[in-house]
This record gives sequence, structure tokens and C-alpha cells, in this order.
Amino acid sequence: MTRTARETAGETTRETAHVWAALVETARRTVADGLVVGTSGNVSARVGDLVLVTPSGVPYDRLTPDDITGVDLAGRQVLGSLVPTSELPMHLAIYRTTDAHAVVHTHAVHATAVSTLVPELPLVHYMAAALGGPVRVAPYAPYGTDELAGNMLRALDGRSGCLLQNHGAITYGATLDQAYDRTAQLEWMCRLWLTASSLPGLTPSLLTRAQLTEVGERLKGYGQQR
Ligand code: 13P
Ligand code: ZN
Repeated sequence: MTRTARETAGETTRETAHVWAALVETARRTVADGLVVGTSGNVSARVGDLVLVTPSGVPYDRLTPDDITGVDLAGRQVLGSLVPTSELPMHLAIYRTTDAHAVVHTHAVHATAVSTLVPELPLVHYMAAALGGPVRVAPYAPYGTDELAGNMLRALDGRSGCLLQNHGAITYGATLDQAYDRTAQLEWMCRLWLTASSLPGLTPSLLTRAQLTEVGERLKGYGQQR
């Protein structure tokens, strides 16, 4: 049997249970770190052809191992009985078109504020290179729609994160930790720009695309390479 067939048969593998626990932990972190209020936002992780997702409208502190919720890449529910997140179109669009293994979506306040002001986050900091380049804002569409997922995919081209106009932010990564860190960095960068541009008569200096490209190369050697 394929993994999905086994899951459909009701057998949750140890790996899947482990990823669910990590997903719930990541989701709770978004609340603890002030990136999520109430049940705004959602988290997902891919295990083979299975996508584990937070259920819609359930506070993360209430989630137990029994609440595991999973869909296939076509969005058919293959695990659990809770209704999956309303943002399945965005999460699945990312898994279908990238090598992502995790996606984090929040309504973090500074990211959302920036999404109402500009079509692209100005290059105030070199960490934009860690997200693949200048972070774009996807044009507004109602939450949960294919239209929003399409707008998001275009904004994500060559990036691992984008803002969603008058809505929030979304990032993806190879792991839950990486997707989470990118969300936190993006929120920090949005706060930085709002802070730097809030003094009357002063405008922040910005980096050029060439400077950002240079950092992109440098970042490949960043941290512990041994
Ligand atoms: P869910 O509770 O359905 O995941 O929706 C929250 C959200 O952020 C919608 O954009
Ligand atoms: Zn949302």
C-alpha cells in the first residue's frame, strides 16, 4: 500500500505522528511569539504525498495527537475528522510547485500593516536575501480562494515568502523550523521598515538589487558549514 492508502485505512505511522507533534508545536510558537491572535493563521507540513494541516478555527492550545488532520495533494481529506484549514488552496499551491516541506501563514501585525502600504517591502535590510530577494505583496483576494492562491504564487516567484495585501504573510521552507524562522524574519523586517520610516522628514536608506544579490551569495556560506 502507498502511504496515503495506509493512512486512509486509519493507520497513522510513527513518522506522521511525529510530524503532527512538530506542526502543533510550531503553530503554538506563532501564538507565543505574538505572530498570531486567536485562530488567525495556519501551518502545514508535507510527509510524502500527505499534507498535515491545522484544522480550521481551532485554537492551537486545544490540539491533541488525536486531532491529526491530513489531505492529499488534491485537497481530499485522508486523515482526521476536523475540517482542514480554509487556506488549503494556498498551502497546496506551494507544495505542488515547490520543494517545500512546511508552510506557515500568519496575520502578524507589522507584516499585515506593510501589506496595506506598498506593493513590495522596501530593501531596508540584507536579510531580504534570505527570502530570495525583495518581498512582494500579493494583490488582495478573499481568504480561502483559488484567486488568493494564484496571486500568492505569482508573488512568491523566486521567493520563499510574500505578503498578502490587507491579510498577512506566508512563508515556506524545507522544515517547519525554517518556514517558522522565515515568518519571524519577515515580520521583523516589516517592523524595521515601519520603524525606520516613521520619523517625519527622514527616509531610510535602501539597499540596491546588486547589494542584495551579493549578500545572497555570501549567505550560502553563513553559519556552521562543518
Ligand atoms: P483557518 O482557521 O481556516 O486556518 O483560517 C485562518 C486564516 O488565517 C484564514 O486566512
Ligand atoms: Zn489568513
